[in-house]
Amino acid sequence: MNNTQSIELLFELSRPGRRTHRLPVCDVPVKPVSSLLPAGAVAEAPPPLPEVGEIDLIRHYNNLSTRNFSIDTNFYPLGSCTMKYNPKRHERFAANPAFAGVHPLQDEETTQGMLEMLWDMQNFLTEISGLPAISLQPAAGAHGELTALYVAAAYFRDKGMTSRRKVLVPDSAHGTNPASAVLAGFQTITVKSNAKGLVDLDDLKSKLDDSTAVFMITNPNTLGLFEGQIRQITDLVHQAGGLVYLDGANMNAILGITRPGDFGADMQHYNVHKTFTGPHGGGGPGSGPITVRDFLAPYLPTPLVKKVGDKFELDYNLPKSIGRVRSFFGNVGILFRGWAYIRTLGPDGLKKVSEHAVLNANYLLSRLKGNFDVPHGDRCMHEFVASAKGLRREKRISAMDIGKRLLDYGYHAPTVYFPLVVPEALMMEPTETESKQTLDAFADALIAIINEEPTFLHQAPHTMPISRPDEVKAAKEPILRWTA
Ligand SMILES: *Cc1c(COP(=O)(O)O)cnc(C)c1O
Repeated sequence: MNNTQSIELLFELSRPGRRTHRLPVCDVPVKPVSSLLPAGAVAEAPPPLPEVGEIDLIRHYNNLSTRNFSIDTNFYPLGSCTMKYNPKRHERFAANPAFAGVHPLQDEETTQGMLEMLWDMQNFLTEISGLPAISLQPAAGAHGELTALYVAAAYFRDKGMTSRRKVLVPDSAHGTNPASAVLAGFQTITVKSNAKGLVDLDDLKSKLDDSTAVFMITNPNTLGLFEGQIRQITDLVHQAGGLVYLDGANMNAILGITRPGDFGADMQHYNVHKTFTGPHGGGGPGSGPITVRDFLAPYLPTPLVKKVGDKFELDYNLPKSIGRVRSFFGNVGILFRGWAYIRTLGPDGLKKVSEHAVLNANYLLSRLKGNFDVPHGDRCMHEFVASAKGLRREKRISAMDIGKRLLDYGYHAPTVYFPLVVPEALMMEPTETESKQTLDAFADALIAIINEEPTFLHQAPHTMPISRPDEVKAAKEPILRWTA
């Protein structure tokens, strides 16, 4: 069989007597799936699935779909998650069969358009971060953190600096930061925040030494504050021989205004699904490219997209690469939406995105300040963290009560109980795509809620199909049966 032959792969449903589906794919051996499985693994009888008429099925799924909560139905100020509008035009682009129908095993000759898009995206993202080398492979922000820490570990191993085993993480960081560090085999050390909610420089200095591998910093941080001492921080880490990792989840505040590479970061991830409008929620789908300095480039995952003459190629030739972290080239569907977003807005448009995101957050902050404690909030970047600590003490109203009651008003709850450095935290990120009317209505709802009867709030939500499930039990012991 040669590459130019067009063949079909037979997908055979495991249920005997079912029709087989023929899908045109590419050059792989033709074999029924059941013949590839060990004998005992093929079902002898159909599974006992419910038999219902088509109309009942359609109604079931349509009714379920009307219970979806999304940025397309309601305001969604979930702090740190950047739930901005996902332009429908980009959905149509990404669904175009010319892109969506490309098979990852297709010959490069036949996927030049897709490779060009990925190559563009490599260039856009390195320019925006000010860090010259990139991998588009990681599938989410947390995956980008892990990948970059593997890259750092490979670098230190290669240079014989194996005693650098510690990763320093501020106490305001996202939980994925220490989790990624541990998964990558490092030991984590917590760095304290000072009274202003910023990195405590004395604490940082006392924890830097020749065992420091990486300092992970989020800037602006999870309190919505820009670390004004960032240059001093990155200098201190470099003087100690460590690398600086920027958690780029909050890039929506600084696009085109400052660049991580310019303020001293050596590596950073993007959350394309946050900053560049991939629709996300409930765990996916994501894309978490990492950009790094040149001296870290040899360790990046492969393949990388490169341009040779007029052609685009996949480059696997990186002998010191940490290897693959995901199948193929990354989450191309989300990268394509990000590409369309960046192409549409251009450099000036992206800068305006951040300016408006910061303006909207400050407007909401100013509307709420008299009614809520905002411990570090004279001004904020693209988000801020209010506290229900006083309300809890005086009226027994918790952040959870407020979040749950907002659902009755038709709003998604803010992020609650994070970051951990603020008690009874309510972290709000309105994003640039919301109107003044929406922000005013949301502020009015919050103010109305804290004046409601506390015992009524303790039972909220009152209008949802379920009220207060035991979330831990639901996650650990999910009931997956369709019938009792
Ligand atoms: C969202 C987020 C992450 C993790 O990103 P995912 O894409 O959800 O894996 C990491 N850090 C911060 C600050 C975040 O907001």
